Amino acid sequence: MRKRLALAALAATLTTPLFAQTTVVKAGRLIDPETGTSTPNAVVVIEQGRIRAIGAGLGIPTGAPVIDLGDLSVVPGLVDAHTHMGLTYKEVPENNYYYFTYVQDSTPLRAIQAASNGMQLLNSGFTVVRDVGNNALYVDVALRMAIEQGWLPGPTLIPSGPMIGSTGGQFWPTPEMYRQHDIMYPEYVDADSPEEIVRAVRQNMLFGAKTIKLCVDCKPWGYSVEDMKLVLREAAKGGCLVDGHVQTPDGAQRAIDAGIHIISHGHALSPEHHRQMAEKGIFLAGTDTPFTPYHGTKEAFEDTVARLKDAWEKKVSLTFSTDMDYWNDRMKDPKTGRWLNRGELTIDFLLTWKAAGIPAPDILKAMTITGYKASGLTDRGPLKVGNAADLIAVAGNPLADIDALRDVRFVMKDGLVYKRDGVMTPADFFHPGPVKGWRKR
Ligand SMILES: [Zn+2]
Repeated sequence: MRKRLALAALAATLTTPLFAQTTVVKAGRLIDPETGTSTPNAVVVIEQGRIRAIGAGLGIPTGAPVIDLGDLSVVPGLVDAHTHMGLTYKEVPENNYYYFTYVQDSTPLRAIQAASNGMQLLNSGFTVVRDVGNNALYVDVALRMAIEQGWLPGPTLIPSGPMIGSTGGQFWPTPEMYRQHDIMYPEYVDADSPEEIVRAVRQNMLFGAKTIKLCVDCKPWGYSVEDMKLVLREAAKGGCLVDGHVQTPDGAQRAIDAGIHIISHGHALSPEHHRQMAEKGIFLAGTDTPFTPYHGTKEAFEDTVARLKDAWEKKVSLTFSTDMDYWNDRMKDPKTGRWLNRGELTIDFLLTWKAAGIPAPDILKAMTITGYKASGLTDRGPLKVGNAADLIAVAGNPLADIDALRDVRFVMKDGLVYKRDGVMTPADFFHPGPVKGWRKR
């Protein structure tokens, strides 16, 4: 019986065409952001969602379907290293005060927003997103699971679950709100003592967090160096990197002294902090907001640009990050009046990087290679044999003109085509169930 099954399996293998699971992508140029170089006439051979061969002058397997991208440049997928897909605060009715968004928008509604935002980001070439808190009751983890299981298209998510903070998190609740803890506190996990800190880290990892996000100094009673070292030790057991929200110079120094992996927000960081971060290899997710008709101020922008420029000059490990979690009715193309989608708003943060005078190859590296490292990815990101086939294509050469990334013509994730000729084609991602396995999380 056993032998017969084995023979049947062998016969099935032999009768299945060799190229059944093989796709070939051809393009004018292959960009390597690690080295800042490109190879003309690139071929990528993809088998079962993974890269089997890549480079110039490769033979194309007989009969394999070829996606010919003409003279487009192939680039690995982009990373937003700090955003919140399950939060949308607005001018009306909450006057951009996100405390009220939490009261008004339920966890299920926010999960649906996150699913839509994920598709919009993928459409703009973001194949990896670190989603770091402010996601109600694990919206980020649920979306990661749904994408991994095969329910819908979206980037690879690195979810943090709720931010862990000392009493209050980022909120200043009324006593009424605080004592009725379940009204406002899916949003943060309060953890003050060492015992509570360990429990909070374990709880988030149990529920599916792939990174740990801390409120380092959201309150005057924020975390000490020792507290953060405890978090780092505990998070390491679950393979999680630790990301600290930092808003004061003291908090920044404590996070650096503790050896945190990622510092989120650059506005409290001095040149001396940058120097130390570069020395210790701490990633910066600066959330470098541009000044646009729909957000920001000139003063804040100039400060952001100066700090980003200094961090780049000091050779800090820079990631591209946005904190893009708001909406208003000015988010339209000034020429056509068409709404800008979440992906377009995200890529618009290039304005800050260009204003800081950072060369295109360094921006591209931040948006890819450094982003993958800060995400802790091991089997996807760089375009190399064995990695997931997550790639995008643009006209022109982003090593010369980074704005080429604003018009992504082609997106492939895990070997499936999501966008072609500039048009979304997500049908292959939709399934009647968790076809990639219900245990995936
Ligand atoms: Zn944030």
